[in-house]
Amino acid sequence: MHETMVAESLLATISAESTKQNAKPVWAKISCGTLNTINDEILRFAFETIAKGTLCEGMRLEIEHKLIQCKCRNCGETFDFELCRPKCPKCESEEFDLLPDAPLMLEEIEFETE
Ligand SMILES: [Zn+2]
Repeated sequence: MHETMVAESLLATISAESTKQNAKPVWAKISCGTLNTINDEILRFAFETIAKGTLCEGMRLEIEHKLIQCKCRNCGETFDFELCRPKCPKCESEEFDLLPDAPLMLEEIEFETE
């Protein structure tokens, strides 16, 4: 299952960072592309399950889905792809290329402060 692998790698990264900071993580934000087949609920559940008994137990995960980016063929502008308005916001051209979907990334970790 894809989400379990993602959860394991997140847990490893967050644990390593916590050890380095010598603090308990309370919240983390990850982001991924729209086409990335991450199910938020499954990922949260998988993370909760494997985090039990570790420093990361009980922490919250925020998952942001990034829109696909486009690059205008006419003026080179990059912009978010929106189905309702598929054209360049700068020059109004409808000739553009879709850029590769954003990878899954760990953006931020918040630690408990005493
Ligand atoms: Zn343009």
